[in-house]
Amino acid sequence: MIEVNQAIQLPIHETFQGTVQGEGFWTGTLVDFIRLAGCPVGCAWCDTGYSDGGKHLPRDLRSLQEVVQELQSPRTVISGGEPFMHRSLSDLVQAIFATGRLVNIETSGAFWQDMPLATWITLSPKQHINPSFPVQPEFWQRADEIKLIISTGEEVEFYQPYLNTLSHRPVFLQPEWSVRDRAIPLIVKLLQQYPNYRLSLQTHKYIGVA
Ligand code: SF4
Repeated sequence: MIEVNQAIQLPIHETFQGTVQGEGFWTGTLVDFIRLAGCPVGCAWCDTGYSDGGKHLPRDLRSLQEVVQELQSPRTVISGGEPFMHRSLSDLVQAIFATGRLVNIETSGAFWQDMPLATWITLSPKQHINPSFPVQPEFWQRADEIKLIISTGEEVEFYQPYLNTLSHRPVFLQPEWSVRDRAIPLIVKLLQQYPNYRLSLQTHKYIGVA
């Protein structure tokens, strides 16, 4: 039994176990998901329903111990909402590492906190959608992968000044789901221009898992 601080509570949107990561570098690997509640960025196409701030979405306060005890898979993905807006994120990460599991965090980069180096960080910037929530500069050096959601194709040019500073870190171009039929051909053209970048599809949606 792993001892964790009983007093810490987490605002949970949802948790689910024993699924596959559908996107980015770890596509196809067995993972558990912890979605923390809340995000102020307001992307119109938000998969998790935070387009309008998520006032009517689940926000269940659950103990850190309870959330960690239900984990099953070798890797846990913490997403949102926006995980980095919660101060308890580092407690959650430490508690998962203490069970011997690996940790990924998916973020828009709008809020910075330092995390243990072993934490895999997926930066999916939304600064082009809402300039009020720019990527905190530390993320461009800290992120282990960059995932750009492609809707118009102009996203790559928008982030190019930052992407040019990266070396040896994978950059994924992922179609925005609701316009995927239009975005996938755009991505193929972008890959011809940027052959080191890679296509990421939301494979969990194609195969019908959470
Ligand atoms: S940053 Fe992510 S969680 Fe927040 S509104 Fe945009 S897509 Fe949704």
